[in-house]
Amino acid sequence: MKGNEKKIGISGGTFNPIHLGHLIIAEMVRDRFGLNEVLFVPSGMPPHKNLSNVVSSEHRFEMVNKAVANNPYFKESRVEIDRKGYTYTVDTLKNLKEIYGNGTSLYYIIGADVLNDLPSWRNHEEVFKMCEFIAVLRPGNDMQGFKKQMEFLRDKYCAKIHFIDTPLIEISSTQIRDSIKAGRSIKYLVPDCVEEYIMLNRLYI
Ligand code: ATP
Repeated sequence: MKGNEKKIGISGGTFNPIHLGHLIIAEMVRDRFGLNEVLFVPSGMPPHKNLSNVVSSEHRFEMVNKAVANNPYFKESRVEIDRKGYTYTVDTLKNLKEIYGNGTSLYYIIGADVLNDLPSWRNHEEVFKMCEFIAVLRPGNDMQGFKKQMEFLRDKYCAKIHFIDTPLIEISSTQIRDSIKAGRSIKYLVPDCVEEYIMLNRLYI
């Protein structure tokens, strides 16, 4: 990384809903990599996910909007939810390069589980040229498999992938949705404002 360039982190996800795992990791990455900003990009229609239990883009965006409001380095982005049809990361990166200019470096933050999916992303070779990846481990991820996949992507595509050692955070959106359905507490798993929004709008019940 060069010294004076603008560095933007991208935290992309379904955010169904956004949880503290997303926020803690983004803040740690921002701090360690000296990012100027982290952009949270809720997906529109992700081609990889089963959409039957995904709440509307507007609900997911609103939860992200509230969750990032008290961190001056965090910002929400509508770039994917305002796009028609399936959302592909390659298009998002092109949009962000247009908005921020070519001198800006983009760092895509991902859980190690996503590393295996990268070769199936549309125009992944172009994606590897447009951004660097910062990967973190999630509970259950296998470190050996992760290292092998990182080497494979570096060798085959010259992908720039960084690994950052963070605490394992055992929180997932699936777990939160399941807890709500079962009437269990989600306190301390999502920000209070997100919990309030979920309850007010009776999401995931
Ligand atoms: P779901 O359970 O619905 O699949 P999720 O919790 O994995 O959702 P996503 O919105 O799909 O959340 O994740 C967006 C990104 O955040 C992915 O790169 C994912 O790996 C990462 N991520 C999610 N939860 C964590 C966590 N606890 N620790 C580290 N990374 C995470």
